[in-house]
Amino acid sequence: MPATSEKKPGTAVKHSKARLVRGVCIYCTKQDDGKPKHVTGYPIKEDYVISAIRWIKRKTKTEQGNRLVVCEKHAEEHQKKRGGFERSLIIYGGIGAFLMLILLVMSLSLGSFLAGLLLLIFLLATAHMRYVPKAEGI
Ligand SMILES: [Zn+2]
Repeated sequence: MPATSEKKPGTAVKHSKARLVRGVCIYCTKQDDGKPKHVTGYPIKEDYVISAIRWIKRKTKTEQGNRLVVCEKHAEEHQKKRGGFERSLIIYGGIGAFLMLILLVMSLSLGSFLAGLLLLIFLLATAHMRYVPKAEGI
């Protein structure tokens, strides 16, 4: 009888849950000595906003190079805040697209298109006042 039950090496089961990493929680307050506290948490996804902040910090030489996370204590709070941001993005984006459409219906011209586009960009920028980064695994 051939041994079919033998497991092949290198076929480890992948967990669906994101890997927790060590880093600085974006909600946890700093320690008494002013240094950021290192905790285990869900890694913050590097998106365009985080990249822009890092770029500015590099230029101003204030980058600390800390890995950003959301600790388990703040996971629920973060989920709510991120959900709120995603909703406002959809709502503001929807309003912007709708207004753009109305402008184009009123007069189909390049001017209307540009005005609508500016309005859409303005509304999306406004939505980013509530920006909350995405954390992997939450
Ligand atoms: Zn925390």
